[in-house]
Amino acid sequence: MAYTELNPKTKKFEFGGVVGTTILSLTLPIFTLIINQLITPNDKITYDPVYYLNPFQSYSLWLPYLVWFTSLAILDIIMPGHWVKGTTLRNGQVLNYKINGISNCLLLILVLALRWQLTDGQLPELQFLYDHYMELNVISFLFAFYLATWVYLRSFINESKRVLALGGNSGNVVYDWFIGRELNPRSICGLWDIKLYCELRPGMLLWFLINLSCVHHVYLETDQWNDSLCLITAMQSWYIFDGVLNEEGLLSMMDIVTDGFGFMLSFGDLTMVPFTYALQARWLSENPITLGYTKISMILALMCLGFTVFHLSNQQKSHFKQGKLNHMKFIPTERGTRLLCDGWWSVSQHINYLGDWFISLSWCLTTWFNTPLTYYYSAYFAILLIHRQIRDEEKCHKKYGKDWEEYQRRVPYKIIPYVY
Ligand code: NDP
Repeated sequence: MAYTELNPKTKKFEFGGVVGTTILSLTLPIFTLIINQLITPNDKITYDPVYYLNPFQSYSLWLPYLVWFTSLAILDIIMPGHWVKGTTLRNGQVLNYKINGISNCLLLILVLALRWQLTDGQLPELQFLYDHYMELNVISFLFAFYLATWVYLRSFINESKRVLALGGNSGNVVYDWFIGRELNPRSICGLWDIKLYCELRPGMLLWFLINLSCVHHVYLETDQWNDSLCLITAMQSWYIFDGVLNEEGLLSMMDIVTDGFGFMLSFGDLTMVPFTYALQARWLSENPITLGYTKISMILALMCLGFTVFHLSNQQKSHFKQGKLNHMKFIPTERGTRLLCDGWWSVSQHINYLGDWFISLSWCLTTWFNTPLTYYYSAYFAILLIHRQIRDEEKCHKKYGKDWEEYQRRVPYKIIPYVY
């Protein structure tokens, strides 16, 4: 296939085009600092940009961050796992992915348990993370910026051999850098898939550690386990490990299949996830509240409801695609694939998003109605999911044409039955 045929120029711009992506790149990092400063106003942070940009001055932050990122990357490559095939790319190539979330998570938990023993529960690493949280937030978005730039520049080397993202090949530097020019950047002889790694390891596991650092901090200060903090940490850890352990599911998601890897994903994975998804635990660490059994039961019930819808619907689609649920109703498509319109997938087109949103709300409720700030997460997540649904609808309409229209006729609601 000719290069221009394989990698056509991007004509349709998203996120407000060049202006929109420039504004987002400049404002989103600042936004993460503002929301965190509002959540924990006592946090001290130097706002001198030179301090962060000069690694000789800020090496005590850069060093641990780089050790975290690179050691997880090395483990990602060397830890045992099994290989699975991804979807077929436009050039006919099928990439292999190493699935080793279980061994990586077990190792992390083992290291934490060992450190707990060796330091008599002091865990200075977690204390460091707690004390330097805001500064590490800055380091993470600078790193996301450098990573996106490196990946963008290397997409021009041996260009003819690379598959570019259909949405990130406009020719405009800022836009392509933001959206992601190369579809599946890989390094170290193709062994390290940068996009899958960033989606599931450094940000997700850092989020887990940030929550732990909050529980640990309050425990050291008060000598007590706070129930709201333990609850949010337990619920989010469940979600994090479910995501990391079911990593195969990610291989068919739009992040891996259609999106390039640029600042949008590197910032989302490395900064937004750990440094804004942990807001409830951060707020509770400075304002520990006692929820009691009744509120805990209500919150857990909402989390269970959300997780059941989220998990079972995703599982049903996945099993159906693997040919396991052939008794269910479906629409055959001209492309030869099938659109499920039964079970969860007859309730709405993205019932899994609704389950996920209920989960987000249960997390916000751990701070009860004591602050509106922590509810930022559910608001942000609603926008993310609606935007995702719109993008997915466009994609499916283009891909399936009148078969998708028939599906929309049979399953009219997009996310919330009878509402939207
Ligand atoms: P979906 O799981 O809804 O997948 C959409 C794709 O599935 C479509 O593009 C189409 O792909 C296929 N599809 C859609 N409807 C049907 C059907 N009826 N029958 C068969 N195939 C169908 O969305 P996502 O991949 O966006 O999300 C997956 C999960 O990840 C969700 O639960 C979401 O909530 C969660 N998520 C969480 C985020 C977070 O930050 N916590 C961020 C993003 C997502 P095709 O036909 O081409 O295979």
